[in-house]
Amino acid sequence: MTHSRPTILRLLDERGLSPSRALGQNFVADPNTVRKIARLAEIGPGDLAIEIGPGLGSLTLALAETGADVVAVEIDRHLIAPLEEVLEGTSARVVHGDALTVNFTEILGGRQAALVANLPYNVSVPVVMRILEEVPEISSLVIMVQREVGERLVAKASSEAYGAVSAKVAYFAHGAVVGRVPAAVFVPKPKVESVLVRLVRHDPPPSCEGLNSAKLFGLIKQGFSQRRKMLRSTLRGQLSEQDFAAASIDGQRRAESLTLDEFASLARQLR
Ligand code: SAM
Repeated sequence: MTHSRPTILRLLDERGLSPSRALGQNFVADPNTVRKIARLAEIGPGDLAIEIGPGLGSLTLALAETGADVVAVEIDRHLIAPLEEVLEGTSARVVHGDALTVNFTEILGGRQAALVANLPYNVSVPVVMRILEEVPEISSLVIMVQREVGERLVAKASSEAYGAVSAKVAYFAHGAVVGRVPAAVFVPKPKVESVLVRLVRHDPPPSCEGLNSAKLFGLIKQGFSQRRKMLRSTLRGQLSEQDFAAASIDGQRRAESLTLDEFASLARQLR
């Protein structure tokens, strides 16, 4: 059984709780939506799902229904007791912690896992980047985020949404927007639209082999620091005209037009 709107309202009312804006609390009150997310995660018995921000357990219940083991990391101490009550007798367990600092190695105990979450809007990008950079045991992510953020995560070079984060995500994973979620399914109803994004981890592309990732990411960040300016100007001091020529990249181009492979060619010229 997943939560309907009256259940969410009752759980909040019984505990005298009101959703915290600061913690991005918009609870899903629609069984179809959470079941769809669980289906997209392609998990079942024997799998481990990590959920960030279970809230009152809407998605957690749907994940547990698949038969997978679920570990749900929730920062808000006021939600821990109602959550444990809701999840009693299921395969889900709750960890009270902050997704930005919690020890995932300890939580995973050497197992591979899928991350499935309706992410709090204020930390969605840092959480995704932390998982991609620091938790290789998590091999896929199905996340619900603000539409603008979701489009940015999976954007291709030369598109309007493309930015430093898109290029970094492309280093770790391939991804796509796999669904839209109307604001009407949430309590309270957010002002922005949400999308579902699926990311599947891959090895760094051949163009990045042997390249120091910190160096590459530093260059990407610097390149996008003034996205409308020519790269030969934003990267002045780091790369010369000869370096651009050696990488076969025209220094008059802007960061927003460079693919990850092209950033990698430039990063190889860094001393
Ligand atoms: N999963 C629930 C649902 O779909 O109904 C709730 C989603 S709500 C958008 C985000 C949840 O993330 C809230 O429960 C909030 O307290 C929690 N949260 C916010 N920041 C967090 C953090 N840094 N680490 C873990 N949980 C966090």
